[in-house]
Amino acid sequence: MVTIEPELAPAPTPRPLDDARAQLRDAVERLGHDESVYAMLSVARRELSVSIPLRRDDGRVEVLTGHRVQHNLSRGPGKGGLRFSPDVGIDEVRALAMWMTWKCALLDVPYGGAKGGITIDPRAYSQAELERVTRRYTSEVSQLIGPDVDIMAPDVGTDERTMAWMMDTYSVGRGSTVLGVVTGKPVALGGSLGRAMATSRGVAYVSLLALERRGIRASGATAAVQGFGKVGRGAARLLHDAGVRVVAVSDADGVVHRADGIDVPDLERHVDRTGSVSGFAGADPLPGQRELLTLDVDLLVPAAVEAVVTEDNARDVRARILVEGANGPLTTVADAILQDAGCLVVPDILANAGGVVVSYFEWVQANQAYWWSVDEVESRLDARMQVAWDRVWDRAQRDGQSLRSAAMTLAVKTVADAHRLRGLYP
Ligand code: GLU
Repeated sequence: MVTIEPELAPAPTPRPLDDARAQLRDAVERLGHDESVYAMLSVARRELSVSIPLRRDDGRVEVLTGHRVQHNLSRGPGKGGLRFSPDVGIDEVRALAMWMTWKCALLDVPYGGAKGGITIDPRAYSQAELERVTRRYTSEVSQLIGPDVDIMAPDVGTDERTMAWMMDTYSVGRGSTVLGVVTGKPVALGGSLGRAMATSRGVAYVSLLALERRGIRASGATAAVQGFGKVGRGAARLLHDAGVRVVAVSDADGVVHRADGIDVPDLERHVDRTGSVSGFAGADPLPGQRELLTLDVDLLVPAAVEAVVTEDNARDVRARILVEGANGPLTTVADAILQDAGCLVVPDILANAGGVVVSYFEWVQANQAYWWSVDEVESRLDARMQVAWDRVWDRAQRDGQSLRSAAMTLAVKTVADAHRLRGLYP
């Protein structure tokens, strides 16, 4: 029999649900709540898993799996994105739904938290196939969603077109147009100005605040951004516009690096032409994501997927500040390692909340059938990010906590208070 020395044993596969629950446990203990609060908030209120039979373009039939998890509904309807990813499973969706609950509470957005996922690699399917999958999934979960019940939005692998199909499918089933059932819709279809850039705007906003608090001038500061999609691309662009030197950027296909700073608008044109950052003539390739994550930079923005900084690579991270553009990019162990190393970590539920804040604005506008200017949207978003940042920063200073613990404590208290005030039925 072969025995593996503990230090040689492979690190356990990161499990976002374990991380989400560990964060909740920490907050419940800090708040002095009893076990029943943890017991109620560590599990989802409702979950639905559905099979999605898909007729492929070549006539074959495949059966996919989809989920919708409503973690908490105490402060309002469920809210959260729909993810298309080849390895998304129910536990990942549960973790993501829980994080939405805290995000909405922290930003004082009147929703609970929810998330959806379909196990599919969207890059391997045609537009027509993705439309059929989206419509069938929407139909399967239609009893559980609605503008007052649970509101979907884009997430990894989905976009405004997906939302348009969902809105249409739901509306056809109801017999009239229901704009408020999803957010992140195209502007021509009741979407909000400023929504497409909202998550990126929030990420850039708190990144600049974090640099300021660490006494680093934005102009000339260095940054690396992992992910060049809905969050990372806009964040890289806005940081570049603010004078930050974006020295490295990656996507699923590759990593590019330029010590003097990448010309981000030029990179965007390359990506629009080719579909990837790879092959960009204005920078050099790096071997992989690990090299990007361990660059000696002022600011690191993981803006792709969860669990990219783990106990395997956390000790090699050299950034002064890490802003979580993605949901759950740090495992619990990695988070502790970075904190010990003095890295300022701005947690996901604060850093990437700009998206759901403007989703809320979109829903308000749709419900009132009255649309705001982009300036109005952006100034209201900035104001909310600033208020949330100040609350988290002040709480962290007061109690000598990390920004994550402070953010979680504030958010969990808001949700636990709502629970207590509503009481238990029956
Ligand atoms: N998927 C985004 C997130 O994780 C946006 C959610 C929303 O707008 O509802 O925050």
